[in-house]
Formats: sequence, structure tokens, C-alpha cells
Amino acid sequence: MSSEPASRFLGFLREHQDEMLEDLKRFVTGETPSTDKELLDDFASFLSDYAATAAGGRPEILPAEVSGNHVRVRWGEEGGGPPIFMLGHYDTVWPAGTLEIMPCEERDGIVTGPGVFDMKCGLVQGFWAVRALREVAGVERPIVFLCNSDEELGSPSSRALIEDEARLAATVLVLEPSLDGALKTARKGAGRFHITVKGRSAHAGGDPTGGVSAIEELAQLTLQLHSHSDPRGAGTTVNVGVVAGGTRHNVIAAEASGEVDLRVATQAEAERMVDVISELEPHNPEARVRVEGGMIWPPMERSEKIAELFKRARVLADEIGFELEEGMTGGASDGCFCAALGVPVLDGLGAVGGGAHAVDEHIEVAGLVPRTALVARLLETL
Ligand SMILES: [Zn+2]
Repeated sequence: MSSEPASRFLGFLREHQDEMLEDLKRFVTGETPSTDKELLDDFASFLSDYAATAAGGRPEILPAEVSGNHVRVRWGEEGGGPPIFMLGHYDTVWPAGTLEIMPCEERDGIVTGPGVFDMKCGLVQGFWAVRALREVAGVERPIVFLCNSDEELGSPSSRALIEDEARLAATVLVLEPSLDGALKTARKGAGRFHITVKGRSAHAGGDPTGGVSAIEELAQLTLQLHSHSDPRGAGTTVNVGVVAGGTRHNVIAAEASGEVDLRVATQAEAERMVDVISELEPHNPEARVRVEGGMIWPPMERSEKIAELFKRARVLADEIGFELEEGMTGGASDGCFCAALGVPVLDGLGAVGGGAHAVDEHIEVAGLVPRTALVARLLETL
């Protein structure tokens, strides 16, 4: 049985579910690849209009030079206490034209389309949660909703904005997709590194001892790096995901390079692994190794504050009529930046569905109303 405030929100949202789905289709059919500034800026304008007209907010377009423009929306009085900071990104990993092969369609209780799960649906839920709060409960409280354009790239141009808003906020609600419905109370941090190896070229047949193979060296370094992976233990993973090098089959390669992805569960492990990777030494003393890069997102550790916030969310979900679980994910998000500042963060409040960054990306329509009601109740009670 839903509690009184919960059922008021549920009633309102159920009445408007078709409208929410219409909004979702509009959001998904505006394609937003992270690197296409023109498409991103178009979407930012659309989003800004939507926030003002549909959701009664005060939007600002925050111009970015290379990335798409970001959109920040405020509700409630400024100076009326620390706001709740809602956070979501509108860029997706999908190139322009993906809609042709992955159309946005609703069938058998799911909606498909590029970015529908990660995370256009979360944005729609966020806006509708604020609508429910204001139209049903009549609550005017300071809320800031930042929709950034470059999360899938590591938020190069929005990180500072995110951190500035997080510092001022009472709580951060991240509308990233859920983990099979569960919230993400811990996230691994992520780092990225570029390794360049220099050897010495020689004729592979005529002068086999005259060269120093950069490819052989990179292969050894790859094995060494991968040996640090401990996904079931400490949670650390290292992946050399891209390699390049060499010129011809009969030339000992003078150069090779690799792109490395690092994931860690704790800040201490982040520091340890950054040292390990930065201090890589060549196996062949005649080869030279250069490492660039570092951590991009700090890990979001399950702090006391996060655990406490989750407990409150679980009670609210219970009143709405569903059981809320928590989990950890290896995928980093902008929630990590906020948690690293010591602000309480709830992440994964967005859609129920699956297939983030995959061809079967989808959301479950059944999750739309209860999840939005949960965000509305969090906005009302936190
Ligand atoms: Zn995302």
C-alpha cells in the first residue's frame, strides 16, 4: 500500500505517463553524439526551452567552446537554503544516424533507441519529478538541474561546473541509469593512460639482433599491466584496449603505443595503481617507455553519508511500492566528482532497463512512474 504523499505523486505521474513517453521520444530522437557540437548545441536549445515551458524552470545555456553547450536549470528561490543538485548528461556514445538502425520505438513495455537508457530517460524523469513536486505537493524549494554535454568523454568542460554546484548543494541526485533497478552507492574510479614505446628498427631477417622491438616491449608491458587486475578481490581492473605499432612485417618495430583503462574501488588503490602505471620500466633496457595520463574520475566510495541517504531512499521506495536495492558498478560517472568532495550522493536514480552503450539499449516503461515518484519524494523530503 502506498503512503498518502506517495500515492498523490503516483496518481499524477500515471495520469501523465503518455506525456512522459512522448517527451522521452522527443529527447531520444534529438541525437546527441558527445563530439558533434552542432547537434549538441541544438539539443541544448531544445532542452532549455523544454525546461522553461514544460517544467517551469529558469534555464541558462552555459556556452562551451569545443564541447556542446551545457544547460543549467533552477527552481525555487535562490538564497533559500542549499539546493538539491540534480545531475545528468544529455550526450550519448552513439554517432549521428544511429536512429536509422536503432529506432526509438515502444513495444511490449520497452522503449528502444540510442541513449534512451544512458540517459535521456533519466533526464525526462528528473524534469517530471520536479513537475510532480511543484504541481502536486506545491513545494517550492531550491533545485538545480545541470544537464551536461560531455560526460561520455570524461566531462572535460563541465567538471568544474559540476564541482561548483556540488559544493553548494545539500545533496546530489544523479539520474544515471539504475543497475537492474538498484541505486549505485559505490562506483569505481576510472583512469586513462597512453603508453609510447620506442625501440630500434632493423631488418627482421637480415639483422635480427640489431633491432629493439617496441611491439615485443609493449606486449610484455601489457601482460605486466593485466596482471594487476583483480576484479573479484580488490576490484581493480587494467585493460590495454587499443594497441598500435610497427610499419611492415619484415621490420623490427621501432615504435608502438597502447591505450590503457584503469578501474579502482578506492582512492588508496587509485594512488597505488597510478604510481604502478606511471613508473613502468622497460623489460629490455634498450627500449624507452613513456607514460601519460592519470585518473579521470575518482572512485565513489560508499561513505556513511551515502549509506544513510540510501536508507532513506529505500524507505521512500517502500512507501511507493517497490523494493530498492543498492549495488556497485565499474562504470564511473559525474557522481564520482561530487562524492569526492564529501557531498552526499545518490546515483543510479534514472531509468530501469539495460544495454547502455550496446545495440540492445532500452528502458522498461514500468519503471518510469515509480522511479520518478521516488525522485519527487526525495526532492520533497531531503
Ligand atoms: Zn551515463
